[in-house]
Amino acid sequence: MTRLLVVDDEAEICNFLKSFFEDRDFEVQTALSGEKAMELVSTFRPQVILLDIKMGNVDGLNVLQQVKSKNPKIKVIMVTALETTDKIEQAMRLGADNYITKPLSLEYLEKDVQEKIANLAARS
Ligand SMILES: [Mg+2]
Repeated sequence: MTRLLVVDDEAEICNFLKSFFEDRDFEVQTALSGEKAMELVSTFRPQVILLDIKMGNVDGLNVLQQVKSKNPKIKVIMVTALETTDKIEQAMRLGADNYITKPLSLEYLEKDVQEKIANLAARS
């Protein structure tokens, strides 16, 4: 089973993604902050992380750097609102493996994201 960590400062998004991917046989943990995310990187050892770019006081890019320096094999998919292309470019330069944009549609999650995650996990 693929271990997926969802990092977002909005609890509803965490819960939504958790149940969505649990229904599809992923093992999912969630983190509302960068600190909690790094704790779970050690204890839960996710293969893939869905990482929000904008989280209150913490920048997701910062978390991305911490994750990649701790374990570059973890696949990180950035989750971001539209119109933040500069942040996306920065994230890809910092080693992000892919990105998806909010608002997250069920249809998109169903096909694209699930496929992306499965591919990334298989290569890890
Ligand atoms: Mg956010």
